[in-house]
Amino acid sequence: MKEPEGLLRNEPMSRHTTLHVGGAADFFISCINEDGLLEAVEWAKAKNKPLLIIGAGSNLLVSDDGIEGVVIKLDGEFKVLKQVSPTLISAGCSVFVPELSRYCAEKGLGGLEFARGIPGSLGGALVMNAGAYGHSIGELIRSVRLFRDGNFFTINKKEINFGYRESGFLHESILLFAEIELVPGSAEKLEETAAEFMRKRKERQPLNAWSAGCAFRNPPGEKAWKLIEESGAHLFKVGGAEVSGLHKNFIINTGKAHASDIWRLMCMVKDKVKSETGIELEMEVKKVGRW
Ligand SMILES: Cc1cc2nc3c(=O)[nH]c(=O)nc-3n(C[C@H](O)[C@H](O)[C@H](O)COP(=O)(O)OP(=O)(O)OC[C@H]3O[C@@H](n4cnc5c(N)ncnc54)[C@H](O)[C@@H]3O)c2cc1C
Repeated sequence: MKEPEGLLRNEPMSRHTTLHVGGAADFFISCINEDGLLEAVEWAKAKNKPLLIIGAGSNLLVSDDGIEGVVIKLDGEFKVLKQVSPTLISAGCSVFVPELSRYCAEKGLGGLEFARGIPGSLGGALVMNAGAYGHSIGELIRSVRLFRDGNFFTINKKEINFGYRESGFLHESILLFAEIELVPGSAEKLEETAAEFMRKRKERQPLNAWSAGCAFRNPPGEKAWKLIEESGAHLFKVGGAEVSGLHKNFIINTGKAHASDIWRLMCMVKDKVKSETGIELEMEVKKVGRW
């Protein structure tokens, strides 16, 4: 079988993650349209290689030993944004969420101001049901086009079980496009609201450091950062990995961390919080690759 166009071998995943760690993916393919995606999936299947789809890598902890099989990233047509009716936007799942938020605000379409500082792709944001300031992306979705079990199809929002940082079965599919329903508003006011969210974020989050955002999910009725601070786990460091002084649920790579440092630090933080508070933190960051 012919190799998919643009296939890369031993592609360092540190280039594709905001933590800037991770060994090489055996194979890496950027797919620019549905035909390209089908070709990549069929090639991986014929070679019996596992597949992993990634977005902007802003919620991933990739092993130092890399990723077995084929990593797929969407590009080209999956980066296109279109207004399809006065309040409906169609977006490819590779669109960067801050860009989508800005595009909508400029058109006087409100709803995505909260998402201005979420540095992920639309696909990753849908899988994670990314959210902030009391809102999450799932609230605004009308439909999602996806690829699953060898077929392309479109599903409506009511078929998706969006929850806190989860989206039912979406993580088992490759998400391609979504329709997003917005509310008309003043472009100027929407921009002001988004800027205010960004100001708050800059005050509370280490945006210039390498991280994957919140390392742990907030347990019901609790804030993970608070549990980490109260347990004293925020003082831990492993190699080049440490807990951010600004936001105690962010684990940062100070420049030379290995994925194994970050993982060990996460385990130490989790154990300390458990022994001090009895609460078991769950990871929000997705650990992928050969661990
Ligand atoms: C500084 C910083 C701030 C952050 N702030 C927030 C915040 O406020 N709120 C929040 O919720 N998150 C936040 N995050 C985390 C992260 O940005 C979100 O989880 C984001 O939605 C992940 O998107 P991604 O494209 O980077 O996904 P990736 O990290 O690339 O992947 C995440 C998961 O989605 C899957 N995936 C990605 N694309 C697709 C696709 N097209 N089809 C199927 N599966 C796919 C991957 O397989 C993986 O399981 C922050 C991260 C950083 C670094």
